[in-house]
Amino acid sequence: MTKSFRTLDDVDVKGKRVLLRVDLNVPMDKGVVTDATRLERVAPTILEISDKGGRVILLAHLGRPKGRDLKDTLKPVAAALAEVLKHPVGFVDDCIGHDVADKVAAMKDGDILCLENTRFHAGEEKNFPAFVEELAKLGDIWVNDAFSAAHRAHASTEGLGHKLPAYAGRTMQAELSALNKALEAPTHPVIAIVGGAKVSSKIDLLENLVSKVDALVIGGGMANTFLHAQGVGVGKSLCEKDLAATALRILAKAEAANCAIILPVDATVAYHFEANAPSFAYGLDAIPPDSMILDVGPRSIERINAAIDDAKTLVWNGPVGAFELTPFDRGTVVAAQHAAARTKAKKLISVAGGGDTVAALNHAGVADDFSYISTAGGAFLEWMEGKPLPGVEVLRAR
Ligand code: AMP
Repeated sequence: MTKSFRTLDDVDVKGKRVLLRVDLNVPMDKGVVTDATRLERVAPTILEISDKGGRVILLAHLGRPKGRDLKDTLKPVAAALAEVLKHPVGFVDDCIGHDVADKVAAMKDGDILCLENTRFHAGEEKNFPAFVEELAKLGDIWVNDAFSAAHRAHASTEGLGHKLPAYAGRTMQAELSALNKALEAPTHPVIAIVGGAKVSSKIDLLENLVSKVDALVIGGGMANTFLHAQGVGVGKSLCEKDLAATALRILAKAEAANCAIILPVDATVAYHFEANAPSFAYGLDAIPPDSMILDVGPRSIERINAAIDDAKTLVWNGPVGAFELTPFDRGTVVAAQHAAARTKAKKLISVAGGGDTVAALNHAGVADDFSYISTAGGAFLEWMEGKPLPGVEVLRAR
């Protein structure tokens, strides 16, 4: 898959005005960037283009403003980025118009200029041709380095790819290469671990996975719906009883596709949804009616680890228990540490991503030991659902 994309290896950026779409959507508190992870991720692409003499014009969004709203200005983010890059980053308070054009015209080779939040214009999210045209005037080529925004067909994430020569940035390239190894062209056997609260938010994802992977571990709150559908009493656990038929359909599809489904065989339960609530391990035939399943049980953890041992590739989304509350983080932590150890021993390629998964793996202390952890939320999930991502599709060499 990655081969079909043009990358920075395919263009001489020297002297070119490079419109570079990046993910600067960092968490902020009172105008201060509280986590610079995303800035660190985009730094290599920015510096490479600048070092090669390209004029880097950064396009990005922050938050979900409806029109111009200075609460979501990128100005402080540009300043934080300059610190990460150890290189000056200019800023202009719009992303189209005369002022911007003048600032761009004054740029020298190697300069870096950050434009204001693209979402200050309605044309961004609506992908209006006139807005795309205004943006396109500012650059000679377009480089997309924002995988996390690639599930949106917005002007700066997709529209520009139809107007200017389009290339994948290094972060995008790394992400696509990791995802390629995980699901499109993986080394089999492939195991997926899917957890999280609800089946309802992950139906498409589960349906896609059962047709692609060799084994699927289902954990977390969503496992309760599957267990209930199979006639297990799950007491007061989180459970979407109205989705029992959907759960059975997914199980049937898995069987037809030869995908082994690994559901919990026991459970860690409590009577209160709170940290350090007294907890008990029960077999599935003995879950007390007034208790809640908050994590997979000890025998289930052993099964998950054994299934990881049988796999050469792992894709993970969602915690297998209520990992924010000790001791109900145990299943997630033990399985994550096991996957990390297998990865370090070069026995496993491990890719994880999506929302709470990154927090859960950080909590388990293994974030650096997985082969790849995607910080993209929605885009990672849509990729796991097997959906084409507009911001990626537009990069395919035509
Ligand atoms: P998601 O955003 O769908 O990946 O769901 C993550 C959330 O699922 C986390 O906040 C977990 O605490 C929650 N979760 C996982 N397992 C359970 C469970 N057995 N009961 C209740 N919540 C759970």
